[in-house]
Order: sequence, then C-alpha cells, then structure tokens
Amino acid sequence: MPSPPATDPARALLPGEAEDRILQRVLPLAAESCTLRHCVGRILRQPVRAERDNPPFDRVCMDGIAVDSRAVAQGLRHFRIQATQAAGARPLVLADAGAAIEVMTGAVLPVGTDCVVPLEDYDNRDDGVGLTANAIADPWRNVQRRGADGLSGGPMLEAGIRLGAAEIAVAASAGLADLQVGRLPRVAVISNGDELVEPGRPLADYQIRRSNAPGIVAALLSQGIQCIDDDHLRDDGQALREGVARYLDSHDVLILSGGVSKGKFDFVPRSLQSLGVTEVFHHVEQRPGRPLWFGVGPRRQLVFGLPGNPVATLVCFTRYVVPALRAASGARRVAPERLALAGPLRGRSITYFMPVVCGRGTATPGSASARAPSGSGDFLALAGTDGFVELPPRPEGYPAGFVADFHRW
Ligand code: AMP
Ligand code: MG
Repeated sequence: MPSPPATDPARALLPGEAEDRILQRVLPLAAESCTLRHCVGRILRQPVRAERDNPPFDRVCMDGIAVDSRAVAQGLRHFRIQATQAAGARPLVLADAGAAIEVMTGAVLPVGTDCVVPLEDYDNRDDGVGLTANAIADPWRNVQRRGADGLSGGPMLEAGIRLGAAEIAVAASAGLADLQVGRLPRVAVISNGDELVEPGRPLADYQIRRSNAPGIVAALLSQGIQCIDDDHLRDDGQALREGVARYLDSHDVLILSGGVSKGKFDFVPRSLQSLGVTEVFHHVEQRPGRPLWFGVGPRRQLVFGLPGNPVATLVCFTRYVVPALRAASGARRVAPERLALAGPLRGRSITYFMPVVCGRGTATPGSASARAPSGSGDFLALAGTDGFVELPPRPEGYPAGFVADFHRW
C-alpha cells in the first residue's frame, strides 16, 4: 500500500500556517508623512537617527554647585559663589579654583568645572559655601557626560515599529516634527445575513441584532484605522456580488462576516471567487472559527470571510486580521505575548481560543484566568475579558501554569 503523503492536502491549516499564508500575501501600502501628534499607533517607515550626541553637552544632574574637583582633592572645602548657571543658558567659565558656580539640573556644566556637589552637601555662609564633612567631589560626579546615552547619527528607532508615547518622544528628541509612517488601509466591513437587524430598529422574534460590525468597527478604530465603510448585504448571491464588487474597486481590505459555512445560503466564498478574488484557504483547524475564509483580490486587496458567530468573528479578527492590517502598514512581525493559565483546563483535540482575564491585584503575575463561553454564539462571555489564549491541541488537558500565546483584543 502506498504511504500517505507527509502533509494531507485536504486537511485544514493550523492557525500558524493560516497566519503565514496571510502575511506572505500582504503588500505594504505606501508611506506618508505625518505630524508627531498624528503618529500614535502608526507604523514607522523610516529609521530615526540621533540629531546630536545624547546628551548634547556635559549635563548637570543635580541642583547644587559646580567646582573643579582637583581643588577639593587638594583640601579646599570653602568656595565663593561666582555666578549662577541656569538650564538653557550659555556655559559660564569658572574664574579660578577657589570659585564655585551655582548650577541647576539640566544646565550645561560650566567650563573649568568637572563635578557637581548637591545642595544638601554644603552650607551657605556669608562669604560663600562650606562643604559638609561627607561631601564628595570626584571628577564627573552628578554630571551626565556628553554622548553617554548615544552618539550623533546613531540609531534610535527602526522602521517597522509601532509608535507609542516613548517612541514619539524619542523622535521629537531627534528633532523630527514629522515622520514617515505606513498609510492606513481603507477597510470595508460587510455583514452578511437576512436575519440581521440594526441596533435601534424594531425586530421580530426570529431576527437577531447585527452586532458583529460595531464590534469590528470598534476594533479597527482602536487600531487607529478611521477610513471604514460598514454595510449589510443580504443572503442573495447577486446582491452580494454587486455589493462586494463596489468595495473591491475602492478598498484595500474587505472584512465580511457570516455566510462562509456550508449552508444553502452561504454565498460568500462563491461570490468572492466569481469576482476574481483568489481563495488562499477556507477552514482552519481551530475552535471557534473553523470556516474562516481568506483570499486575495485582483489588486492584491485582502479579503477575509469571518464566520458569523460573534465569538468566532472577534477571535478571528484579532488572530488574523489585526496582524494583516499591521503588516499592510509596514509593521515587522512580532512574537505574541505569553501568559500562564491561572487554573487547569480540560483537554482539546484542536487548537482552542480561550477568552481570558489577565492577572491583576493579588493574582500571580503574568497569569490568565479563563472565561469559557458556552458556545461560539455566547459573546456575553467576552465582555470584560482582555483577549484570549491560544491553546494548542492537548487532549490530556492543560495544567495550571501552562504557558500559551496571548492575543489582546
Ligand atoms: P453564518 O456564519 O452566517 O452561518 O452565521 C452564524 C451565526 O452567527 C448565525 O447564528 C448568525 O445569525 C450569527 N451572525 C451572523 N452574522 C452576525 C452579525 N453580524 N452579528 C451577530 N450575529 C451574526
Ligand atoms: Mg448566515
């Protein structure tokens, strides 16, 4: 009998394989210039180098007096105050070794001095200052030397990082008022299903609220993506094709929810293919969200068909769409956070995405407490959670302390 192929072409992909296939197909969008204030959460597309040495001069680190340490080494403990050197003022020059210059934190170290004695280590007298018995005046004490943190032209930030408060402060310190960042994608969020009714509109007992789209739109906004169209298309092949065709013309990323399973009215995969969207995969070996569909449009648009069940929709969005959106803006791939389970969980034979609350207060640091939904429609269980852990197949169960990848909402 012939041996079976090493990888079964018919089997659904594993989550990591699905993620790889998506990211392999993402083409970064163009870069654009943005003022610092508008760079929060954006992906940097240029290296940032130091404008000058950091710090750019020998910097006073304490309020006190600057003296020549050699005078103290020779036994001098009393100094007259020559002048005051404030932050932002040109450097003064020490007149002679018997003088001290009063200095403020952040000031340039006066020329001719090489150390700072802090306020608490000297007494003010009528004719100057006297050092206390425990005052120390070693060379460069309480002085941050020019270039100690980095040299002019040295690397500060690399392209591909996400810009947060610290990174933006660094760019500002490099003298940059604008940065090159990845353009944000234009995204269409398309709900599919005849049973769905808008919040605020009357509905019949047999209908349900269209809740996935507001969740996805909220998640996009929290990623800084503002250019979003939100539409609802019926379970009708032609209406779906016409609607999707419009968004394919104008958008970079299409996120559909619902209609990707095997039901009679699940028109999404065939409609997309008939519009020239090439299927990359359909089905991932995971729960929830097995029917996930992904394809690439004629202009390299990324097209996601998320399963309609609300837990599956949000989990698949976070696990697959968010990394793709970041990659589209030029982000480098980063390894996920890892957390340890706060308590044991029963075994699973395929990858399971378990909503969790991260350890707070007295909980073990870095731990995650499970909040298991009763099914992939039970999205109430998601409220108040921080994200989910990705539990790999492990039929024998997951002990407390089991470490898993964590994906934040
Ligand atoms: P489907 O993927 O279309 O088979 O839908 C699976 C389940 O998710 C069904 O119970 C749908 O009613 C529900 N569902 C689909 N789309 C949405 C949506 N946008 N908001 C809330 N529930 C939805
Ligand atoms: Mg449906």
